[in-house]
Amino acid sequence: MKHNQLGKCLLCGTDGVEQFLDLGSTALANKFLSKEELSTPEPKYPLKVGFCHACGHVQLIDLVPPQAMFDHYLYISSASDTLKNHLWDLSDEILRRYELGPDDLVIDIGCNDATLLHGFKRYGVRTVGVDPAQNLAELTSQNGIERCTALFNAGTAKQIVSKWGQASIITATNTFPHIQDLQDFIHGIKTVLRPGGVFVIEMHYLLDLVEQVAFDTIYHEHVSYWALGPMKRLFENNGMRIVDAERLPLHHGQLRVFVKHDGEGEIHPRVAAILEQERICGLDRFETHQRLAQKAMVIKEDLHRMLTKLRKEGKWVVGYGAPAKGNTLLSFLEIGPELLEYIADRSPLKQGLYTPGMHIPVVPAEQLLPDQPDYVLLLAWNFVDEIVAQQQEYLRRGGKFIIPVPEVRIL
Ligand code: ZN
Repeated sequence: MKHNQLGKCLLCGTDGVEQFLDLGSTALANKFLSKEELSTPEPKYPLKVGFCHACGHVQLIDLVPPQAMFDHYLYISSASDTLKNHLWDLSDEILRRYELGPDDLVIDIGCNDATLLHGFKRYGVRTVGVDPAQNLAELTSQNGIERCTALFNAGTAKQIVSKWGQASIITATNTFPHIQDLQDFIHGIKTVLRPGGVFVIEMHYLLDLVEQVAFDTIYHEHVSYWALGPMKRLFENNGMRIVDAERLPLHHGQLRVFVKHDGEGEIHPRVAAILEQERICGLDRFETHQRLAQKAMVIKEDLHRMLTKLRKEGKWVVGYGAPAKGNTLLSFLEIGPELLEYIADRSPLKQGLYTPGMHIPVVPAEQLLPDQPDYVLLLAWNFVDEIVAQQQEYLRRGGKFIIPVPEVRIL
């Protein structure tokens, strides 16, 4: 299939990006397949990650067109209790920090099923969601939240302002790593954000990714793997500035960043503290990322050896949780239905479908208990506490979980 070769760094524009990890050629991680689609050719794209020697940014080497990934989206925020609670906490936090009234507009970019905006709606502010996913627009059309079904960029930003006016708050949770044209995106943010307004970003964090060997965070949608250092540079080069940042425990660790127009607001000391943590970890050095790649290879070998052995012993092994990240893991590790009979998942949108690439069937989570397989590979390992709490009965009956990262272990 066609893909655009990335000749240069998304952030600084130089061509100093050197590859450190090759996860092979894989299918798009959110493109689950119906039974009929299994017989048609499935597009695959190279999945390689590189480090920019000029600015320290970590990013994919090859880009897949956004339309191929986001127009029909099977991940919904409300499917996870942890995520829903987290997003509502974020709306509480923003309301604590900034006084907002009924005239204030909150815009969520990549609003998905509008879970976060529902959190804001409790406070009586105006809300608009922006998201290109047609299927999610239909899903949430009757929930009273206005929606712009498009990819956010400088062009759609103008349309948003003419229809709804400027926003006091713009949020983007788990969206910023998707942005392929960063300058254009920030141009759009500056158009929509009113003077004194705040742009709040939340996303997976490179420091956590490196520390936890969370290489399965890497898939085509995520073109950038953000650290605060390069991000600070990006905003400063484009007339904005980071005024606060904090690390959060959600998923395998996230970064929340507050950005304002240039010259506005005081910069919190937390920003410098996090930059120092990044320096100590060596995020600005190529060797740090090479070590991550080596650890990913060790996990691949260990997990493959364990699953093959269990299979030989006649054990029944299935998977739990069908997140996009699980598909990076399965493809890279070459784990198909011969090793993992099915994957149980709570999201009705994925049940009855097959995982992209490895074609493992997805079944309802309720199937786990009557089946009582010997082992369950936890693909959504970032929600381990939530899933273990939900599956107490499975464990009580002697079932075991296999946790794949940061190193393979049995729970
Ligand atoms: Zn660069």
